[in-house]
Amino acid sequence: MQPSSAISSHSGGQQVSVLLPLPLAGAYDYRVPRGMAVRTGQFVAVPLGVRVVTGVVWGEARGGVDPAKLKEVLGTREAPGLSRDMLRFIDWVAAYTLSPPGAVLKMAMSVPKALEPPKPVTAYAPAPISSAPASVSGTEIRQIRQIRQIRQIRMTPARRRVLEVAAEGPPLILADLARKAAVGTSVVKGLARAGALIPVQVAAPPPHPLPRWQTEGVSLSAAQETAAAQLVRAVDRGGFGVTLLDGVPGSGKTEVYFQAIARVLEQGRQALVLLPEIALSAQWLERFRGRFGVEPAQWHSDLTGARRRATWRAVTEGQATVVVGARSALFLPYPDLGLIVVDEEHDAAYKQEDGVIYNARDMAVVRARIGEFSLIAVSATPSLETLTNVKEGRYQSLHLPDRHGGATLPDLQTIDMREDKPASGHWLSGALGTAVEETLSRGEQALLFLNRRGYAPLTLCRACGHRLQCPRCTAWLVQHRRAGRLLCHHCGHGAAVPTHCPQCQAEDSFAACGPGVERLAEEVSELFPGARTTIAASDTVAGPAAAAALVKRIEDHEVDLIIGTQIVAKGYHFPLLTLVGVVDGDLGLTGGDLRAAERTYQLLYQVAGRAGREQSREQRAGRVLVQTYMPGHPVMAALTSGNRDQFLEAEAQARRDAGMPPFGRLAALIVSSRDRAAAEKVARNLAATAPHGPHVQVLGPAPAPLSLLRGRHRLRLLIKAGRGTNMQKVLGQWVGQRAGGARLPGGVRLQVDVDPYSFL
Ligand code: ADP
Ligand code: ZN
Repeated sequence: MQPSSAISSHSGGQQVSVLLPLPLAGAYDYRVPRGMAVRTGQFVAVPLGVRVVTGVVWGEARGGVDPAKLKEVLGTREAPGLSRDMLRFIDWVAAYTLSPPGAVLKMAMSVPKALEPPKPVTAYAPAPISSAPASVSGTEIRQIRQIRQIRQIRMTPARRRVLEVAAEGPPLILADLARKAAVGTSVVKGLARAGALIPVQVAAPPPHPLPRWQTEGVSLSAAQETAAAQLVRAVDRGGFGVTLLDGVPGSGKTEVYFQAIARVLEQGRQALVLLPEIALSAQWLERFRGRFGVEPAQWHSDLTGARRRATWRAVTEGQATVVVGARSALFLPYPDLGLIVVDEEHDAAYKQEDGVIYNARDMAVVRARIGEFSLIAVSATPSLETLTNVKEGRYQSLHLPDRHGGATLPDLQTIDMREDKPASGHWLSGALGTAVEETLSRGEQALLFLNRRGYAPLTLCRACGHRLQCPRCTAWLVQHRRAGRLLCHHCGHGAAVPTHCPQCQAEDSFAACGPGVERLAEEVSELFPGARTTIAASDTVAGPAAAAALVKRIEDHEVDLIIGTQIVAKGYHFPLLTLVGVVDGDLGLTGGDLRAAERTYQLLYQVAGRAGREQSREQRAGRVLVQTYMPGHPVMAALTSGNRDQFLEAEAQARRDAGMPPFGRLAALIVSSRDRAAAEKVARNLAATAPHGPHVQVLGPAPAPLSLLRGRHRLRLLIKAGRGTNMQKVLGQWVGQRAGGARLPGGVRLQVDVDPYSFL
């Protein structure tokens, strides 16, 4: 815990500044009434106009307001306050992203209800039996109970799993019961309605048991041991430092960083593990449980309100010692954080694209520097940013060159689609079809990777060529046949497929163009009618419970063929999966994205890593086939040769020559409005006042590739600067108070995106 002496105290009658979780310019001064004591970091209730708002004591009063006019702090909140480090972190992130500090504070205060003492919550227990015979044993009671239930209600495998889990231990809250049984919460609710489960009030969600750091992990190989020892030493030494843990998939990176977590726990401090997509982390949680005996606290957007409240509270009380979470977990109020692990550090999912626009990997480094502790960045395909930091000596680096247990990396080959062309309306080449067939006939599993949800990315009228477009975005509507709808992947707009073309009135004239996973599934079922196929995309596998259930079905070999988007690319380990077919290797290479090549390389490498991860039998060697129209592209060359360094060197050279990140600085301004003329006017004004100098260049304004999004017209300006330039200062002088999503006249909004990842 942070020593309380680190927190200055303001006795009654004094004035303090209080930051509110609102997008205001800064903290406001308040008077502390006599008899009340407040500390920096403490949560306090203050008046704001006619409202009462909870904010945080940010420090001494700023002054400048007549003390007689200051309003009084109304009261203190009972929760522990924010640490000094947290306050500094919030200020830092606000300054870096040009956001109002209150908007950043809002991310740290995402659960206002957690500031109230915990309330009782509803948990579920199996329904009691009214008249069990006196002589039966506990097991028999359970069996009778289940028989009764089976007779009375419609039983499904999901319902049976829930009843089994409920019979095992103490009553569980809805979310936990559903998660443990790997079902949706509606299954539990259905059982409760049917009377097979009864609701009971329990004190609060149970506290997080301390992970058992004392237990030994797996016995590490020599290379793993060396890496683990270095990470542990860094924790012991204390102080800020970043280490890149760079190793091929399956080399044991997770086992290695578990050692560092164990040491932090031994020191009695907290650890945070960031994962790009926590919804898909079922196997990671399993590994953690295997190593530490308990589940860590989890933090992501799919938690219930009660769980959110309890977890926030457990973190701020220091009671939750290990948190695994998505990027927002970085803003939880840890009183004593001692380590951050950023797993899959290269992943673009760490970039938050709206509200406060930040990269959680980069901000995690800032958090570690402020807190003076270690950060471990983990990846098989590190970002150019991180590798450059290693090269220039700012970060340490550890390398795990081999797969654990001597398993070899899968053999990767490209299929030249110019030569092995599928028939029109089909997407699998002969070579890939044959490979799938061979794999299935051996009783192994195959993954066909296509990073496109739905049936077809474009629907057009055969008669007049009219394309079905989202009315609110510059984007085609994607056909989703399962849902029977057309959907916009940018704004969620949905519509039925029209019976007549809106342009030429032709009837039933629409043709689907291009493949999505659903369409691929159709082709596969023609080719391999006997194969058990599943589609794994974010709309078919929604949420952690569904993901866990899917993982289990694949592990239990209830599935032969997986057709998946990027949600299956990351981290999973399926022993029987020996073939990965990339249906469109070129998909990510088009478009004006600075990182298109790097990202495609990372994604394809990751998905290739799903093949043949276990070589318990010789024939389980993995195979990866990438369909491409550009077999000579440097990304394909790097993937087939396995020469990552050569590719990265070329990529780095190109960026260096262009003065692009990480060798130069970049920020984007996005001006948007429902009123196109108003947006254009603001953008033009910005361009007219743009900074210029030898190391600063402003490009634009130009209509954004997504020039219409959610009904707003968008223009972009790009500012490019040398590495030595203080981008925040330049931006601040240029756009100043207009930044931070502030609304300008005419409903114009200006967003500042420092270190942009999206160029749409
Ligand atoms: P990575 O994170 O690099 O992909 P993991 O840590 O997930 O690698 O390890 C891959 C697999 O190998 C896991 O099932 C893990 O338990 C196993 N493994 C790794 N190292 C060892 C070891 N030293 N002893 C036993 N199993 C190991
Ligand atoms: Zn749309």
